[in-house]
Amino acid sequence: MRLAFDIDGTLTEPLPPWDWTKVTPAQYVELYKSLKPNQEVISAVNCLYYQDIHDIWIWTSRDVYFAEVTEQWLRRNDVHYNRIFYNKLFVDILLDDKSTSSLNELERMLKRV
Ligand SMILES: [Mg+2]
Repeated sequence: MRLAFDIDGTLTEPLPPWDWTKVTPAQYVELYKSLKPNQEVISAVNCLYYQDIHDIWIWTSRDVYFAEVTEQWLRRNDVHYNRIFYNKLFVDILLDDKSTSSLNELERMLKRV
């Protein structure tokens, strides 16, 4: 299966409640460097990666301008993946007949080893 994981608030702990319209690129870089990893989710991603049957994608709404700091963070926090995509559309609700966002489905996959 092809599995996509968000970074901010998913692979990381929740982001601070800033006014995102006023954050400068330099502040984003410092924030992205400082975010704490969500170890539970990263362990699940790595477990799925090492099942060796999935294509693990990182899919983030971060701009590709932040690729260097983003990929350094992923390396530093030992996140294993196959591909990364930037500039994900931000939506509040996603309905997609080909996808699920169910944590139960993810847990089922982790037990399938
Ligand atoms: Mg997010």
